Amino acid sequence: MSSVLPLSAPVPRARDPRVVERGQHKLGKRLRRQVGQAIADFGMIEAGDKVMVCLSGGKDSYTLLDMLLQLQKKAPVPFELVAVNLDQKQPGFPEHVLPDYLTALGVPFQIIEQDTYSVVSRLIPEGKTLCSLCSRMRRGALYNHAAHHGFTKIALGHHRDDRVATFFMNLFHHAKVSSMPPKLLSDDGKHVVIRPLAYVSESDIVDYAAARNFPIIPCNLCGSQENLQRRQVGLMMQQWEAQHPGRIEQISRALGNIQPSQMADATLFDFMALGHADDTSSPDARLHWVEVESDPPDDHQPGLRAPAP
Ligand code: SF4
Repeated sequence: MSSVLPLSAPVPRARDPRVVERGQHKLGKRLRRQVGQAIADFGMIEAGDKVMVCLSGGKDSYTLLDMLLQLQKKAPVPFELVAVNLDQKQPGFPEHVLPDYLTALGVPFQIIEQDTYSVVSRLIPEGKTLCSLCSRMRRGALYNHAAHHGFTKIALGHHRDDRVATFFMNLFHHAKVSSMPPKLLSDDGKHVVIRPLAYVSESDIVDYAAARNFPIIPCNLCGSQENLQRRQVGLMMQQWEAQHPGRIEQISRALGNIQPSQMADATLFDFMALGHADDTSSPDARLHWVEVESDPPDDHQPGLRAPAP
């Protein structure tokens, strides 16, 4: 389940009338605008789409469903929404909460029952984090369900801070500049995943969820500890935001403002074509340069081309 601010549990503020008012008016308006903007920017929803809204019972997925339901009423195109929950059979999972909530709302919903909890607990040694395998199994179950029920889009509740946290995780631990895209094609090419909350901050979601009084289901029923590296990144982001308000938003915007010519990935920008008309960019010339650096002979002179074998 997504969350990058693990150290500050959301403070229940639903009874504060000022927060309720903010949630129902100004904040709600901002969230609708941001979600609408993301949908428009990435072409997330088209006429006739059947959107599977993945609902875990956490603040993010409740907010996602709530936003999509509101926007559906004013959307320029007709589309269908179905809330889908994967009951992973975690101990103590309150099975009635989501059906009760969705029935009261009048939203079509489906519950998938699959005991991924037992499988993950059996396979992962005690003390290790379960989340990686659990997430893969959950993704598989949701993709299968989408395929069998003709869903054209799968909507997930990842938000702006999740995208930024993933960027730093990939940067620090995988040496790549990569994040969590607002829209993507699944690896098997069969599913389009959308993240309509891509522009929404986690702190706004915390406030909104409190104001709307969503019946939150705790995300620690499985007993898994959050990955330490992700926790550290979350803490780093929290500290930055506290010291430099607006920094996370800046980073989020930067993820949509990549300048390949100012990076160093030759597969994204043709650096070879810059400024040279001679043969230095030919494959042969490149190979000679590489050889010079990789295996110089004993009498090698820096800058000289290695002798032909
Ligand atoms: S192991 Fe628990 S916390 Fe981790 S992804 Fe699965 S349900 Fe969420």
